[in-house]
Amino acid sequence: MQHGTIFDIKKYSIHDGPGIRTTVFFSGCPLACWWCHNPESHSPKPELIYRAARCQGCGACLAVCPQDAIAWGSEIGKVVTDREKCTRCRACVDICYAGAREFSGYSVTVDEVMAQVSREIPFYDQSGGGVTFSGGEPLMQPRFLAALLRACRAQEIHTAVDTSGFATWRVIERMRGDVDLFLYDLKHMDSARHCQVTGVPNELILDNLRRLSAKGARCLVRIPLIPGINDDAENLSASARFLASLPGLAGVELMGYHDLAQAKYQALGREYALPETKPPGEAEMQAAADIFKSIGIQVQISFGGAHAHHGTSQAAAPAVP
Ligand code: SF4
Ligand code: SF4
Repeated sequence: MQHGTIFDIKKYSIHDGPGIRTTVFFSGCPLACWWCHNPESHSPKPELIYRAARCQGCGACLAVCPQDAIAWGSEIGKVVTDREKCTRCRACVDICYAGAREFSGYSVTVDEVMAQVSREIPFYDQSGGGVTFSGGEPLMQPRFLAALLRACRAQEIHTAVDTSGFATWRVIERMRGDVDLFLYDLKHMDSARHCQVTGVPNELILDNLRRLSAKGARCLVRIPLIPGINDDAENLSASARFLASLPGLAGVELMGYHDLAQAKYQALGREYALPETKPPGEAEMQAAADIFKSIGIQVQISFGGAHAHHGTSQAAAPAVP
């Protein structure tokens, strides 16, 4: 049985495609966007989360850790973990009665995912919804994703894949026929800047979108609007011109940045790259939308969007200290 690693399954989602959906969040992403709202998705391996606010300072985790990876921190009654030493044995998670420690990411089979997905079929049917595979980057686990797509197809469940587009064309081409809708992120048109703020260049991403569009795949392009990163007129105009050059799109959505993920970074022991960045206001969103409209591209605007995949969609917060 094909299996993969996910970190959440969210039911009754209304921000990840049409209708009421179940969103399956895959672990692992080749990008590391500065604004990512699901930092626990970056590693393909389970990530240790420490919720300092829940920690009672009992010291049980220090005593049980076989790697001596846990020590008292500078804040009284709180601990710190040396993630380099951690072997993910889970002993500290099991012993922590306060629920301050957990791992995001777990292995599941296709059948286990489908058992949860299938239960919601009446909601999909009533609302025109279905299943969205998100992450992380679902295309990083191509066999697992392909098996899930086939299983959904067999049950006539609508499928969407929320992707950064950073995958080989071979991978995308192989599963294209089983994807009803791609939710395709477009972050920055300048490859050097794209590389700076996401960790990868954009040529492959743009090329895959061109190919998908040329082949008639349904693509809803989603642009996370991040103040100071990609909201300048030059980048938005270049994005609009690129989208206008494509043969056909299912739509374009501008998703306003929100800053709700900072606590997750803290719980993962990481720095948040945009601590001072504030969400754009309605006027800024409208001005950005007008740039697209000026060359005939209609855009939908969303604020504080649920999805922070590579931009907006947020899995159920595992880490709110
Ligand atoms: S993380 Fe849990 S086990 Fe460790 S000191 Fe805090 S409450 Fe105790
Ligand atoms: S998972 Fe195991 S190795 Fe890692 S910090 Fe916890 S007890 Fe130590």
